[in-house]
Amino acid sequence: MSEAAAKDHGPVGYTTSVYDEDVERDYFWENVALGLLGLIPLFITEQQGKSDAELAPMAERAAYVIAYKADAFQYPTKGKTRATGVLSALAAGMAVLARTPGGVTALGVHACTAEHEGCPK
Ligand SMILES: [Zn+2]
Repeated sequence: MSEAAAKDHGPVGYTTSVYDEDVERDYFWENVALGLLGLIPLFITEQQGKSDAELAPMAERAAYVIAYKADAFQYPTKGKTRATGVLSALAAGMAVLARTPGGVTALGVHACTAEHEGCPK
């Protein structure tokens, strides 16, 4: 299938859970995947019609939050919250990557905005 002829998945794209042998299957990561399944379509909708230049700041902000707060999200210290913004940043970043040919697969979740070879849809 040529990428130029790829059929668009519509305003919310396509997001699904996938088995990933590299993803640790525990309570925390299963809930992260569930959160991503709910959030990524919202970000795909929000990003519709935006150019790559318009999305670049969003992707940079997501990368910054993930880089600086992922430890606190994954390993919160006693008495502190996991509310670091990392889950939303992961979803926003994955929504940007979902626009690329082949979409994105990470953390047990696949997301894309158009049909492509190898898509689990
Ligand atoms: Zn796909």
